[in-house]
Amino acid sequence: MNPNATHPFTVPPRAVVFDLGKVLLDFDYGRAARTLSVHSDVSATEFRAIVDQSPLLHRFETGLISTAGFFDEIRRLTGYHGPEALFITAFGDIFDEIPEMVALHAGLSGRGVPTFVFSNTNELAIGHIRRAFPFFGGFTGYIYSYEARSMKPAGGIYDALERLTGRGGADLLYIDDRPENIDAGVERGWRTILHTAPEDTIRRVGDAFGH
Ligand SMILES: [Mg+2]
Repeated sequence: MNPNATHPFTVPPRAVVFDLGKVLLDFDYGRAARTLSVHSDVSATEFRAIVDQSPLLHRFETGLISTAGFFDEIRRLTGYHGPEALFITAFGDIFDEIPEMVALHAGLSGRGVPTFVFSNTNELAIGHIRRAFPFFGGFTGYIYSYEARSMKPAGGIYDALERLTGRGGADLLYIDDRPENIDAGVERGWRTILHTAPEDTIRRVGDAFGH
């Protein structure tokens, strides 16, 4: 099924579901690795490989280990001996707003469209994002993998989103940059946009709402 196919729906979606990373916020684990590796026994490159898309991060973002457990594992694997406060700050401070997409969300929210964050993420990232980005407080609801104990594209987190919103199928318009995540939404009959560039996504959201 082509997730970019034009959907023949005449009724607008009832809610818009946003992935976070590379959709609303850009991120770079290299930034954390450069800061933290100085206080460790490994290079910035090695530090990054231990945290970025690693099995350890996957366990953290599935809620299988706590933030304290994650920090312990980082210390064990990298020899990190800096302050815990520095680790918390640097690990979270990897994000930058994507202004066009934040504006898209503000426009939808301002028109009364329910909006949801739907993210593979962890407690440290969300703590930082809440403090650093005021727009983040403006969603109707939030589904995080570490709370749902399920990561996209596994079904459990999609079930959690449907429960929270009370919606499913074509009532939901879902924006994500990863094809495998979009495919799992398509299988449920959600309307989907595989995000590649803000201008394309903004145009397609406009099409879905008939303007
Ligand atoms: Mg993403």
